[in-house]
Amino acid sequence: MTLVRTRFAPSPTGFMHVGGVRTALFAWFLARQAGSNGAFILRIEDTDKSREVEGSIAQIEQSLRWLGIHWDEGVDVGGPHTPYLQSERLELYKTWAQKLIDSGRAYADPYTPEELDAFREQAKAEKRPFLFRDHRPEHPPIWDGTQPLRFKSDPKPYAWTDAVMGKLSTGPDAIDDFILIKSDGFPTYNFCHIVDDAEMGITHVLRSQEFVSSTPKFLNLYEALGLEPPILATLPFVMAIDGKKKLGKRDGAKDILEYATEGYLPEAMVNFLATLGWNDGTEQEVFTVHELIEKFSLDRVQKSPARFDEQRLLWLNGQHIRSLSVDELYPRTRDFWTDAALNAGEDERKNVLALVQDRLKTLADLPVLSGYFFEEPTPNWGMVRENKQLSKLSTEEVSGLLRAAHEAFSATEDFTAEALQEVLNELLETTGQKPGILFSLIRLAVSWAPFSPALNETLAVLGKDTVLARIQTSVQSL
Ligand code: GLU
Repeated sequence: MTLVRTRFAPSPTGFMHVGGVRTALFAWFLARQAGSNGAFILRIEDTDKSREVEGSIAQIEQSLRWLGIHWDEGVDVGGPHTPYLQSERLELYKTWAQKLIDSGRAYADPYTPEELDAFREQAKAEKRPFLFRDHRPEHPPIWDGTQPLRFKSDPKPYAWTDAVMGKLSTGPDAIDDFILIKSDGFPTYNFCHIVDDAEMGITHVLRSQEFVSSTPKFLNLYEALGLEPPILATLPFVMAIDGKKKLGKRDGAKDILEYATEGYLPEAMVNFLATLGWNDGTEQEVFTVHELIEKFSLDRVQKSPARFDEQRLLWLNGQHIRSLSVDELYPRTRDFWTDAALNAGEDERKNVLALVQDRLKTLADLPVLSGYFFEEPTPNWGMVRENKQLSKLSTEEVSGLLRAAHEAFSATEDFTAEALQEVLNELLETTGQKPGILFSLIRLAVSWAPFSPALNETLAVLGKDTVLARIQTSVQSL
């Protein structure tokens, strides 16, 4: 079987947002699909020190780990191509640069910034594009590392196949002499990613659309280095929901780890990201990670930009929450309970979780949906007045119904959900009320919450003593 070695190569310039993580995810799928013939590598591209944001490497690692995207080689875990931090690989880039100098394909750039500006101005005045290769020095100085080192390009047309975008082609104008190593000694992305991909045996390069216009330059450099290019796959941008602009901070381009604090499950996020511009050709929307690894293919990634729809993420999250058993879900809820809930027993929390699980859209809904199971609610008769049906009852009627309920529950020995359903049905008969009135009233009297799960189940989990005490408090507060 052929090897599949993919990499994620972020620059540590800030937090990870959906677009970046999706690139990592697709590359990881390909590697995992290949089983023991696959490897996923995490390389950090930190050669632009001016853009670096402190703490971003740790944040990148944490984001990937949260999503379960584990890397086989790379920063932190090591591997045969250590170091995986580009700033620690500068000697290697110099060796490769020397190969280009020796073969006459790189030269020291002798110009000052002012001279370069003058060339640009001149091109502008003559209404032609500025190309560095029009100004190649006849006798370049020996490169001593203080000048930028430029690639001596070989401009020509290219036609290539992108695994997502299909057939692409460009003319010779797309190719110019670009900088390989800057005067600060750091290589450019254009140069060092090619060196590293070759050194690390990368077979598939997946990256965002912003790099597609540079591909002819890369192809030219591969040729000069005598390298076979890897499979190139361009992932379209992720756009805001209106499809008009690239996803910006205001439309939800936020740190992926914020979703963890907001109560999203990583598997829902993986499902969401995977289906952002990819589908398996069927109507299926909810996928497990295993299914995604099995089904993912680059040729089904759509060519047009994907739209970021946070409502869809919310929906998927609910689906994934429901697909877990209570025992599977429970360990995930640790950070979301109120203090009162945490003071209660684990069994109690699990029972409540079982009741509210179906209503959770995110784990952060837990306090609102479960608060009254652990803390005495304060009667709020405004909720009765605002209820269309309940507002029609007089105070005497309300009090009479609650007293009847109190009496019935007091007489109930078996406080299980099944037995309570019968008690409630009998109460409907004896009071002659509709469920919409009687049950809503009892529900409020024991919870004072805007919604709760099925009444009989809620009562059973609260327990007889609590139910009786709360009804009494409610009646007294009337
Ligand atoms: N360092 C580049 C970035 O963060 C990665 C591009 C690539 O994957 O080659 O955008």
